[in-house]
Amino acid sequence: MFIATTIEEVRKIVSDWQNEGYKVGLVPTMGFLHEGHESLIQKAVRDNEKVIVSIFVNPMQFGPKEDFSSYPRDLEHDTNICKKAGVHLVFAPDSREMYASDFCTFVDMNGLTDELCGKSREGHFRGVCTVVTKLFNITKSNRAYFGEKDAQQLAVIKRMVRDLNMDIEIIGCPTVREKDGLAKSSRNSYLSVQERKAAVILHESLKLAKSMLDSGERNAAKLRDAISNKITSQPLASIVYVSIVDSITLKSVDKIEAPILIAVSVYIGKTKLIDNFTYEKINKL
Ligand code: AMP
Repeated sequence: MFIATTIEEVRKIVSDWQNEGYKVGLVPTMGFLHEGHESLIQKAVRDNEKVIVSIFVNPMQFGPKEDFSSYPRDLEHDTNICKKAGVHLVFAPDSREMYASDFCTFVDMNGLTDELCGKSREGHFRGVCTVVTKLFNITKSNRAYFGEKDAQQLAVIKRMVRDLNMDIEIIGCPTVREKDGLAKSSRNSYLSVQERKAAVILHESLKLAKSMLDSGERNAAKLRDAISNKITSQPLASIVYVSIVDSITLKSVDKIEAPILIAVSVYIGKTKLIDNFTYEKINKL
């Protein structure tokens, strides 16, 4: 397995692969890899002859008050996981390699980023779209793998690829969870033992919404209230948002009529966590 820190090294390796006609899969990450990332990597290894994992904590997608400097990092652990999983190239650049001091070109989006994390994290998706575009250009991958855990990010990337005619296939992968249902996340490492127990409230509140949907509830306000009440019953939790949106447009809905995305963002102590599920079975309501 190669470990590259420069764009030039990646370009050379990828150009050799292209000469051989290999299909290349990319898994973009911010590192501190866990089983969620591994499931994306395993799918990429199954689908492609060559797999690249990028490990880059992208400063552009963090707000000034967010956790860029404290974000967990462990390159040795990450490269071991990649090696065991059959990855061919880890690309782990530093910020100077990705952003020249006079960098001034951005990829941004309207509409899809009005709600959810787009609303509560100003500039976040501009940072995501810009870095992902750069990673696509650098690696010239045929396919890229993203987790449904970050549902808005997956929708945004798919739309960016469609709108800008990027020649890459985007593959969404299901959320990997802990035994009690908490979605795996690098940020779970911030949680104390007590907070870790409390964090299950995100999944429990979504399970409650799912059972209400299964019993025929169609009123989005009632669902939102039920989710919010469940979350606030946990003293360590405070809500950033509870959103029910159309799963394609990501616009807020009042009535459940088409497939919807229900997404929550919640502080557990000082740690902001997200979770979501998509409800497609509208005709069964
Ligand atoms: P991150 O390192 O948090 O930026 O995540 C890199 C990729 O892994 C993103 O596409 C995430 O959606 C995906 N991912 C993170 N956690 C999970 C999880 N628990 N299950 C599936 N995919 C995940």
